[in-house]
Amino acid sequence: MHTAVIGAGPTGLYTAIALARRGHEVTVIDRDPGPDRDGSWNRKGVMQFHHPHGFRQQVVEALLAEMPEVWDDLIAAGAAPTTLPDQPGRVVGVRCRRLIFERVLRSAAEAQPGVTLSTGHVDDVCCERGRAVGVRMDSHQVDADLVIDASGRAGQSTRTFRGPAEGGDCGVAYVSRQHQLLPGAQNGPMNAPFGMVAIYPGYLAIVFIHDNRTFSTLIARASTDRQMAALRFQEVYEAASRAIPSLAAWTEPDRSRPITAVLPGGRLYNTYRGQLNHAGQVAANGLIFVGDAVCTTNPSVGRGVATSLMQAQRLVCLLDDHRRDFTSCSLEFDHWCAENIKPWFSDHVYWDAELIRRWSGHDVDLTRPLPSDLIMAATAVDPEMLKVVGPYLAMLALPASLAAVEPRAREIYASGWRPPVPDGPTRDELAALVTSVSARSAGCR
Ligand SMILES: Cc1cc2nc3c(=O)[nH]c(=O)nc-3n(C[C@H](O)[C@H](O)[C@H](O)COP(=O)(O)OP(=O)(O)OC[C@H]3O[C@@H](n4cnc5c(N)ncnc54)[C@H](O)[C@@H]3O)c2cc1C
Repeated sequence: MHTAVIGAGPTGLYTAIALARRGHEVTVIDRDPGPDRDGSWNRKGVMQFHHPHGFRQQVVEALLAEMPEVWDDLIAAGAAPTTLPDQPGRVVGVRCRRLIFERVLRSAAEAQPGVTLSTGHVDDVCCERGRAVGVRMDSHQVDADLVIDASGRAGQSTRTFRGPAEGGDCGVAYVSRQHQLLPGAQNGPMNAPFGMVAIYPGYLAIVFIHDNRTFSTLIARASTDRQMAALRFQEVYEAASRAIPSLAAWTEPDRSRPITAVLPGGRLYNTYRGQLNHAGQVAANGLIFVGDAVCTTNPSVGRGVATSLMQAQRLVCLLDDHRRDFTSCSLEFDHWCAENIKPWFSDHVYWDAELIRRWSGHDVDLTRPLPSDLIMAATAVDPEMLKVVGPYLAMLALPASLAAVEPRAREIYASGWRPPVPDGPTRDELAALVTSVSARSAGCR
């Protein structure tokens, strides 16, 4: 069977390798030609490529299940397993820049018999009598028995085959920068397995540890907070990083040096789009969507590659089961995604809306169900809740599992307790700093 995969991101590459190992001839088409000879990679069209990625346990498990040598190659390339301080033997993710992750996965795809990587832009899916028979790439047709759309959150070529996406802008905007620890320098302070998180009323500051002594700093703000938009300028970002204690500790000149420009993020979305068209039917037998093409979530808790590879893993198994009955495969995959992936989207939609509401000055709303972030925060008061919250946090239990401890969290908030705010500038103080540094440096830009 010849399968065409649109998109050589994590989902497309993973799916292609796994299908080739099951006997498919796979052509993966991406407009991006791959890394340069020196290993650098501009990756236009995937705006998040150089932004920090935290890779979760599900990503590690997906690799180990289908392509364990890719895991070994990642470690050889300098990636480090993420472990918990009290359970050093348990791997809960991998610390790695997306550049390294994708370079290693791409090399595995290039070396995989049965996979061909092809550079070009897919304009359309070719159909005959309701069945996908290939894709139109630049000016010619690539024939295929099965077309898999792994074109990510920005993919456009198959829009007309599905109903509209649910969701929209998640309300949060990112600015980040990559850094390298200096020789002999130790990591800065950490309060999470992947680095350091500081949550302020009005913004977030996060450090993600990567491979080879690199790390990223990140400041996330409300996308409507125009005053903070100037964080994308280097002088402003540096001044803000010096003012936020957790970022300052990591970026002090004796500890590290920046290795990229300050990276502004594009718009971030919570969206979900199943397999079906406006009429609730599979529009083309043999055209299946997977990865970010199905679900994108606010990246600040790093669920995107996990939900993408969980989907890819499920899809390759279903293709085995359903053989050439692609319509029944699409329907079963759609059902599985609705049960196992969509809840993560819905979780973020509610969480983000409530977070933005609180960031604009409102208190916790006890007249409505508590969002997941507030339930998680309440474990600081009642650690017993971690028995339920821990599996959710690790994405081993769906968001609905939190209902068991929501009443306890509600009691905690009803008593007047609120999550403690870390040391550092308030949103208004940070915004004032952003405005003044931006005004001072405007003349130099
Ligand atoms: C700012 C940001 C930070 C993130 N941080 C994290 C994180 O910490 N942890 C995490 O797990 N996830 C994170 N994510 C999510 C993660 O990046 C995505 O889940 C992941 O990229 C999905 O992979 P994909 O292969 O489905 O899509 P993509 O990575 O978008 O790949 C799609 C590919 O398709 C190609 N393509 C698209 N259209 C065409 C066409 N017509 N013809 C040819 N090629 C085409 C593109 O060039 C691209 O290579 C983040 C996302 C953002 C936006």
